Amino acid sequence: MQITEIYKSLQGESSYSGLPCVFVRLTACNLRCSWCDSEYTFQGGRRMTLEEVLGETERAAGACRMVEITGGEPMLQEREVVPLMERLLERGYTVLLETSGERPLARVPQQVVKIVDVKCPHSGAAGTFRMENLEALAPHDEVKFVLSDRADYEFARDFVREHGLPLKVASVIFSPAFRKEATGARDASHCLLDPRELAEWVLQDELPVRLGLQLHKFVWDPAEKGV
Ligand code: SF4
Repeated sequence: MQITEIYKSLQGESSYSGLPCVFVRLTACNLRCSWCDSEYTFQGGRRMTLEEVLGETERAAGACRMVEITGGEPMLQEREVVPLMERLLERGYTVLLETSGERPLARVPQQVVKIVDVKCPHSGAAGTFRMENLEALAPHDEVKFVLSDRADYEFARDFVREHGLPLKVASVIFSPAFRKEATGARDASHCLLDPRELAEWVLQDELPVRLGLQLHKFVWDPAEKGV
């Protein structure tokens, strides 16, 4: 499979935020989100066999037992990434899969925790989520919405309500988008949507969702890669 990088860091998003995790970042994406901070994955990378990816992941992991498969869009390489997830599960890892949900998710192994990033209007990729993937969601999965403005918030709020997401998955996350050219200050000034405003909207609407801040952007320089 085509791999951009494999490294250990802290999980920055989802309800696993803050925990040590090995990231296996696959190359290529079929979307072009306006705030994407992973454009360096769109091309390049190196061709690696399944055994090579497993070996490098184990070396990076040490005692860490959590692996996130991410990208780019990892499900573009479904034929190779599904066996990778199966092998990691066999070896006792907790496996997270970060995906836009644009590709079918039915073949993802049941024990994998899917973190599905449903695209909102301001991303420029709205409508790409494959609705049949709602049926593939398991109770341990998570659904995330990255929000830039009030229109994104209302889209996410209505989607959550319409599909009863809080009853379907372990966590629904509303996360302010980060300026992709952000660098320097490690604070909320780089958020396209003020987290405080978002918190107030969530409370006003009594939504049972989790406010998510991208932890790694507050720990390391927001422009830093491989963290
Ligand atoms: S789906 Fe992810 S990697 Fe692809 S363009 Fe959007 S944010 Fe970037």
